[in-house]
Amino acid sequence: MNTAADFTKYKMSHLSWTQYRERLKIAPLVILPVGALEQHGPHLPMACDALLAEAIALRLAANINGLVMPPLSYGYKSQERSGGGQCFPGTTSLDGITLIHTLRDILRELFRHGAMHILVLNGHVENQWFLTEGIDLALREITQSQPVNRVSRCEYWNYTPQNVLERIFDGPFPGVDLEHAALIETSMMLALYPHLVDTSAFPEDMLADFPAHDTYPQKGDGVPVSGVLAPLSSASADKGWLLINSTVECLAAAFKPE
Ligand SMILES: [Zn+2]
Repeated sequence: MNTAADFTKYKMSHLSWTQYRERLKIAPLVILPVGALEQHGPHLPMACDALLAEAIALRLAANINGLVMPPLSYGYKSQERSGGGQCFPGTTSLDGITLIHTLRDILRELFRHGAMHILVLNGHVENQWFLTEGIDLALREITQSQPVNRVSRCEYWNYTPQNVLERIFDGPFPGVDLEHAALIETSMMLALYPHLVDTSAFPEDMLADFPAHDTYPQKGDGVPVSGVLAPLSSASADKGWLLINSTVECLAAAFKPE
């Protein structure tokens, strides 16, 4: 499925409340994509994480007839060893407690609407435990008289098959953390949003080398000036589609209606 596909009917925000009410009765899954507004090198837009999470969510929804909420486009603070840190202009982050409560509030509303299974589809490494806490607080509020709601959380890249990663990387996989704005994200952006990628601004290939600890206040030590943490020059739209399609296929297998 490519960018030309029409995903309108899977977008909660594009439905009327009456359409939503009817769709919710049959949708096996409501998906909330979560990203960040964060520097992604000189070549990618700062909304990268939200754009990718939403694109994958829409393709998953089309596969299983689910519904997709508008993405949560702000995330927890960028960390140097996974996103370059907070030293870059443009990176606009939430305190952990804000993210926790924002997710808790959204989930509370979805429970009220009657959504039975919700997937929080995360596209920003630093978000994960704050999202988990938001889910926990929301579930704790459910009273005994309410139906049992289920909430799943996943980082979409955990559904990318290992054999696809081995094909994409001509050498050892540097790990998800250092993939910030690098080969995986750049390839997927080239596939989905080529008009938002500035190929003339690709930085020179380099692999960031960090100690195994964090130090605060952040000073940006060891963060490449480009903000990109791993090589990306071999990025391509073909690799992007391979990543997207295989990831969506595995997600659909995991979340298909029972
Ligand atoms: Zn990213």
